[in-house]
Amino acid sequence: MRNLSRGVPFATAIHCNVCLDTPSRGVHIYRMRVLIIEDDPVLADGLTRSLRHADYAVDCVHDGEQADHVLTAHSYDVVILDLGLPKLSGFEVLRRLRRRGSLVPVLVLSARDALSDRVKGLDLGADDYLTKPFDLPELEARVRALIRRGQSGGSSLLSHGPLTLDTSGRRATLAGASLELSAREIGVLEVLMLRSGRVVNKEQLAEQLYGWDEEVGANAIEVYVHRLRKKLEPAGVAIRTIRGLGYLLEKES
Ligand code: CA
Repeated sequence: MRNLSRGVPFATAIHCNVCLDTPSRGVHIYRMRVLIIEDDPVLADGLTRSLRHADYAVDCVHDGEQADHVLTAHSYDVVILDLGLPKLSGFEVLRRLRRRGSLVPVLVLSARDALSDRVKGLDLGADDYLTKPFDLPELEARVRALIRRGQSGGSSLLSHGPLTLDTSGRRATLAGASLELSAREIGVLEVLMLRSGRVVNKEQLAEQLYGWDEEVGANAIEVYVHRLRKKLEPAGVAIRTIRGLGYLLEKES
C-alpha cells in the first residue's frame, strides 16, 4: 500500500520519460491533451498526477531536446513549459515551436521571476507565465483558461447554431433573444459548447462546477442538463445523452 506521507515515489518520476497516454475509456471521449516539460522529477510527477486526475491526457518529458522532438511529432491542447531545462532551454523550445507555426497555448513555468525573463517568454510566444512555487489549483485554472481561449480562437464568444455564449460576460442568447440561465447552467453549457460534436462525460462537467459546491454529484449534473435541454430544444439545439458515456451537444438538421 502506498504511504502518502512519504510523498511521490521517486522511481516512478524518473522512469517517466515520455509517457504517451492513450485514452482508455473509449475512442468517443475526447480528452484534452497536455504536454508537461519539466526536469524536476518530483514536480513533473506531481503535475502529471494532478492533471490526469482532472481527466487530461498527459504526456511528460524532462529535457528540451525530448520536448522539441515530441512537439514536432504530436499535437497538444496546452503545453506547460519549464524554462530551465537540460540540453535545450525552455526559451529555445518555445522559439522552435513558434517557428514551426504552432499556435498551441503555452504556459511557462519558471523559478525565475525576473521581469526580463517574463518579457522574453511572452515575446517568444508564451501565452501565460507562472512563477514557482505555485498552487496546483491555480495552475489548473490557468490551463482551463488557455484551453478555452485556444478553442474559441481568442474570442470570449462561443456560438453553436442559433445559440451564442459570451464566456466573459456570462450571458447567452438563443436566436437573438436573451436566455435566462443560472451560473451553473452556464458552466455546463460552456463545456458542452467548447466540445460540441464530442461526448463530454459527467466528471468533465462536474470539474467545471468545482468552486461552486464542495462536491458536485452526478445527479446535480443531470438536473442542470435537463434544465438546459428544456430551454434549448425549442430552438432546435439538442443535448443528446450517450448512455454510459456522457452528453453531446448537437444541432438538429
Ligand atoms: Ca528546471
